[in-house]
Amino acid sequence: MTVMTEKMLSYEPATGALLWQGEYGDVDAEVERAASAWMLWAAKPVAFRIETMRRFTNIVRANEEKLADLIARETGKPLWEARTEVAAVIAKVDISVAGYSERTGQRRLEGSMGARQNLRHKPHGVMAVISPYNAPAELPNSHIIPALIAGNGIVFKPSEKAPATGALLVDLYHEAGVPKDLLRLVIGGRDQGKALVEHPLVNGILFTGSARTGVMINRALSTQPEKIVALEMGGNNPLVLWDTSDIATAATIIVQSAFTSTGQSCTATRRLIIRDSMMKPMMEELKKLTERLIIDHPHADPSPYMGPVIDNQAADGLTESFLTLMSMGGRPIRHMQRPHGELPFVSPAIVDVTNISERPDVELFGPLLQVIQVSDFDSAIREANATRYGLSASLVGGSPEQYDQFWASIRAGIINWNRPTNAAPSAAPSGGIGVSGNHRPSGYYAADYCAYPVASAETEQLRASIGMGLTSVDTSSMGD
Ligand code: NAD
Repeated sequence: MTVMTEKMLSYEPATGALLWQGEYGDVDAEVERAASAWMLWAAKPVAFRIETMRRFTNIVRANEEKLADLIARETGKPLWEARTEVAAVIAKVDISVAGYSERTGQRRLEGSMGARQNLRHKPHGVMAVISPYNAPAELPNSHIIPALIAGNGIVFKPSEKAPATGALLVDLYHEAGVPKDLLRLVIGGRDQGKALVEHPLVNGILFTGSARTGVMINRALSTQPEKIVALEMGGNNPLVLWDTSDIATAATIIVQSAFTSTGQSCTATRRLIIRDSMMKPMMEELKKLTERLIIDHPHADPSPYMGPVIDNQAADGLTESFLTLMSMGGRPIRHMQRPHGELPFVSPAIVDVTNISERPDVELFGPLLQVIQVSDFDSAIREANATRYGLSASLVGGSPEQYDQFWASIRAGIINWNRPTNAAPSAAPSGGIGVSGNHRPSGYYAADYCAYPVASAETEQLRASIGMGLTSVDTSSMGD
């Protein structure tokens, strides 16, 4: 939770206590420093850059608890969950090393007349990494590691809602030996983000955040097609529940999909599309299970399942969205409550929106699950695809044939069966279609947008002849 003054202040959402403060960054100065440093870094052997990344994993391991504690305090997510985020930060190095060598490896191609033909990759230059608050170490790291391996310089702007985690992350890269000039931190919000996107010395933008901001970035770049831009955006993700007798396990998968991270995950389930005959038993089971979820401070004992959302503005927005859905004809199954009015804790809410004829296709970024009843599988798929987003989707239950149909028909970058929508294999490409992404999936494919291919024809000797279309050489004047 952050308040903008001359300094940026970051508060703990779970307590309201001041956690951190820092100066706003100077975009021009930081971009210039990164621009002055990246060529030196790019000229080092890739093995050197990879070794530096491996040192970074050791430094993170040595600071595991410090980083997890800070993430938990700054975002409000439970400490156990913050620890899984730190583990993902560490795991990203091996994934990125494999991705870089497999997708951007050097190739020697068939050449003519003894010439070598080489395919190699070069870094873009200075990459601006712009991040959201919900996984403030894992998400920027997923762009920074592959971009550094490829040889780029980085200017990193963490979310204004989680600047302290961003600042610590940068300290850890520097401690591992990433040159200070090469990787720069810019503390700031929208203005600094805009300035980075538009800066002439920035060669690429690696963005994770809302579709709204992603579209603004895309628009701002309409006159700068030379910049590479990777947009990882939000989702209005469906989970289709079909025939299964295991209601308890299905309810667990739904709760994990919709309420983990207090629903603040891009791949969280927003819409539960359910066979109407399963509605009653499933709602009873869901209500029982959600009642048992512990909502508390990240460090509480016993451990909570959910912490608060990021700030009161987000909590107010969610309770308002819940009321709006009700006013449009939604039927509450579980009300959204604010157990500590002055702090941004919200309880998981479920609302049956089947009777709303024009359901808003927006991402409600919190623990608010909409339920849509349907009577046949084709309608379930139609409902699931009734969105401009296309990040993740799951089928829970159903037959192998139905899963085949689901997989073939659903428009999304992550499609799961009997697994939560937020369970994506970390070593796979991860990204969405529609307004969820611009066809530059991250994860294993991040290497693709961190470097560009260069084709070269090369010989060590000068050798050339023109076989056709020349007049014969006039030798009459030779020797004069
Ligand atoms: P946001 O879009 O509000 O902000 C993201 C970042 O963009 C912040 O650093 C912000 O300062 C910056 N920014 C804002 N306006 C800008 C502009 N005009 N130009 C440049 N930068 C600008 O997102 P948020 O609320 O911090 O994060 C939540 C969103 O992120 C959700 O929509 C979620 O689904 C999405 N998300 C996507 C993924 C993914 O991998 N697809 C992962 C996590 C979160």
